[in-house]
Amino acid sequence: MDKVERTIANLEKNNIKGYFAKSKEDVTNILESLIKAGEKVTVGGSQTLFQCGVIDWLKSGMFEYYDRYDENKSREEILDVFRQASFCDSYITSANALTEEGEMLNVDGHCNRISAIVHGPKQVIVIVGINKIVKDLDEAVLRVKEIAAPLNAKRLKKNTYCAEHGRCISLEDEKTKYKLGAGCNSEDRICCNYVVSSYQQVKNRIKVVIVGESLGY
Ligand code: SF4
Repeated sequence: MDKVERTIANLEKNNIKGYFAKSKEDVTNILESLIKAGEKVTVGGSQTLFQCGVIDWLKSGMFEYYDRYDENKSREEILDVFRQASFCDSYITSANALTEEGEMLNVDGHCNRISAIVHGPKQVIVIVGINKIVKDLDEAVLRVKEIAAPLNAKRLKKNTYCAEHGRCISLEDEKTKYKLGAGCNSEDRICCNYVVSSYQQVKNRIKVVIVGESLGY
């Protein structure tokens, strides 16, 4: 069994439905089978969704799309889009790490994304590049501290240790290496809340599409 098959089998033991898309071009075909025309849809902040053409697909007019990227919206209107996520039929996002043991780790600053993953939208569809699959939660924590958070902090021009040094400050001490909450004290810190999605009470509310390409951070 390869790592994608093993990950999907273990996700399904946790009541999370798994899919495999060979390439990023195949992602919207899978979404078409999961989301009906006219449904309410919004997204979490994600480079992966842009790379897979999901944002353009959502803007096609087929859906009632709540657009967090609309440059004509004020900050207050964007915050309202975040709140509307709770009432959407589908929420599409990516993840920071997916373990072969069938768990997903997400770390947020504003936390609208992890809020929607945990509760609210009727279904949550997570698009994950194969580069984000790790062996277990310890590796997932390291992935956040060594890759996801530093690259996002740099992209967002945050004033944090990781944006400058390319790794979380907590990695400088063996005692805090695997500790999720350990980190910097910057006002710009983007690691504020940590969610491990394991066994789900609502079967298949969360769906994970693993893409056979490297995507996002
Ligand atoms: S806790 Fe601070 S230094 Fe560590 S990854 Fe997060 S933002 Fe960067």
